Amino acid sequence: MLTLTFLGTGSAFSRRKFQSNALIEAWPTSPSAQATRDDVMLLDFGTTGPLALFQLIQRPEFAYLQRDGRADYGRIKKLFITHLHADHVGGVEELAVLTRYACCESKDTQQSSKPMLIAARDVMDTIWTNTLSGGLGAMNGHVAVLDDYFNTLSLIKTTDGHGSFRLGNDYDVEVFPTDHVRIDKKYDWPSYGLTFRHIQTGETVVFSGDTRFDLEAMSPRFDSATTIFHDVLLEPHDGAVHASIDELRTLPKRVREKMHLYHYGDTWDDPVFNVVAKEFAEFAKPQQRYTLFA
Ligand SMILES: [Zn+2]
Ligand SMILES: [Zn+2]
Repeated sequence: MLTLTFLGTGSAFSRRKFQSNALIEAWPTSPSAQATRDDVMLLDFGTTGPLALFQLIQRPEFAYLQRDGRADYGRIKKLFITHLHADHVGGVEELAVLTRYACCESKDTQQSSKPMLIAARDVMDTIWTNTLSGGLGAMNGHVAVLDDYFNTLSLIKTTDGHGSFRLGNDYDVEVFPTDHVRIDKKYDWPSYGLTFRHIQTGETVVFSGDTRFDLEAMSPRFDSATTIFHDVLLEPHDGAVHASIDELRTLPKRVREKMHLYHYGDTWDDPVFNVVAKEFAEFAKPQQRYTLFA
């Protein structure tokens, strides 16, 4: 079984729902059996991520991520970063430092327990110099590099796609570029979404990442997916870099009814949005385990 739990479902500037980061867990059986997990991955970890994770681990079903009352970052085996906005990467410095210094007794265990940082190559190529090196680039005694904190998996574009990686034994995750910020033209600033695939059955779940409404690229993915998580902008404005709710409303009903909206602003409970529960699957809920594949 593969599950997804949002630490938060809010926009970058949400004050009520935390930012849209998620915990992905691959299970040999199911969470109810509380068996050991095949894989545990964070999908983005923004500025509110550490506090949102701390709140999540107070729930009994996530207590395995806790040690001495704190988040046990050593339990998180993988970290995928979609892009370098702070609501997706702002918590990584804390994760890196606490995994390295507060996780393990011996240096050997430390090395083997380094989490695997996964990103498309153009994100990986810039994450250190553009984002992480300011806080992580120096250690007592030496200048630090990304490898001091993480093992890395850089996904390389091929003729088949933009790269993929494995979760547990049964799931593949493929990345695709998203039309988020345009410096000059579509796809010219690195940002990615994910398709989760059950290797045996071929079933897929789409996680949009941050993107504008991109019907041409997304439509085939929407059609074949059993479940869709899509970012949404409730109050459109000039220069918007997310799909607006009105754009998403133009999708066919069969697509909308399997679409869970996330990355929403703090006005989600305005009565004007009550209709969303009828138009779409729902506004995604934080701290709820969604089953991607049973
Ligand atoms: Zn975002
Ligand atoms: Zn963004």
